[in-house]
Formats: sequence, C-alpha cells, structure tokens
Amino acid sequence: MIGLQQIATAAQDIIQICEQKRTNKADKAKLLKLQAAIFTHIEALTECEICGSITDLVVTMTIEPVTAKLCKDCGINAIEAGKIKKPVPRKRSTRTLQQNIPTTKKKSSQQQASPDNAGLYTEVEKQTSLKKTDIKRLHKIIQEIAGPMNLENTVLYVEREVELAKLKIEQDALRTAVALLMAA
Ligand SMILES: [Zn+2]
Repeated sequence: MIGLQQIATAAQDIIQICEQKRTNKADKAKLLKLQAAIFTHIEALTECEICGSITDLVVTMTIEPVTAKLCKDCGINAIEAGKIKKPVPRKRSTRTLQQNIPTTKKKSSQQQASPDNAGLYTEVEKQTSLKKTDIKRLHKIIQEIAGPMNLENTVLYVEREVELAKLKIEQDALRTAVALLMAA
C-alpha cells in the first residue's frame, strides 16, 4: 500500500480538508504536509524498464545476465520466459537519413522561373516579332548556360545554338531577344 495508493489517499485528505465548512491555520499546515507527502511519493515512483509503467510494485530483478527494474506484470512475464528482454532504445539510423537526402527534389531555377514568364515572352514578342515558341527556346538556351556570361558572349552562344537547332531567327531580333531575356 505504498506509492500510487498513498498519493491517492493524500489527495483524498486534501479534498476533505478543502470541503470543510470552515478551515483554519491548522488546516493550511495539514495541506502543506499532504502536498509534501504527495510530492515525495511521486518522486519515489519508479518506471518499469520494460513497459514504462509507473507503479510502486517495481522491483529490481536479475535473470542472468540482465538486471532490470520491472513492474509486477513484466516481472511475472520475465520469470515465465526465463529471461529479461529490455527494449532496445531506437537509434536514429544514419543510413535512413542519407537515403532521404537524394529523394528531396531540388527545384531547378528553370521551374521556379517559368510561371512568371508569360509577360516577359509577350514583351519580347512585341519588340522582336519573333514567335513565342522561338522566344521560349531562346530563353531555355540562355537558362542552360552553366556560368554567368556577358551579353556579347551570350549572344554568340545563343546564335550558335540556334544554328545547331536550325532555327531561323534574324540576328537583330535574336540580339534584342537575348538582351531582354537576360535582363528579366
Ligand atoms: Zn512493466
């Protein structure tokens, strides 16, 4: 009759005192004493190392080679099984963490840029009278350039790509388009 039951008994005593019609200084002292008792009992509660339950019935049991504090139920189970099987603390596997990294898709700058480009393409279309499909292709070529380049080099690069793709784009229009697309 220790532990949880003592806590319950003390709690009931507290309720009784609180429900009195009149309370006095002595009652306050009793309340403090009961509260201290409850605190001590709570601190004395021990956790079963197998199921985690907190009862006053936790006993230290040894079944070679394992020693553990067990509640009544787990103690009986351990005796019946002839061994104590402590739960292994779950380690965060570094392998799962490493596996998770590549699956996180990186948003490419291209994907991020695409939704806002409609206005840009319309503007380039107005100034160059190029077809939107061609403008998009030019933009894609520019975006695929790995490192930053100045306008001249970008124009040369794009011209070459356009040639390779056998697109018919006038040089002036191409230059203007590249400048606009780069500035965007
Ligand atoms: Zn247990």
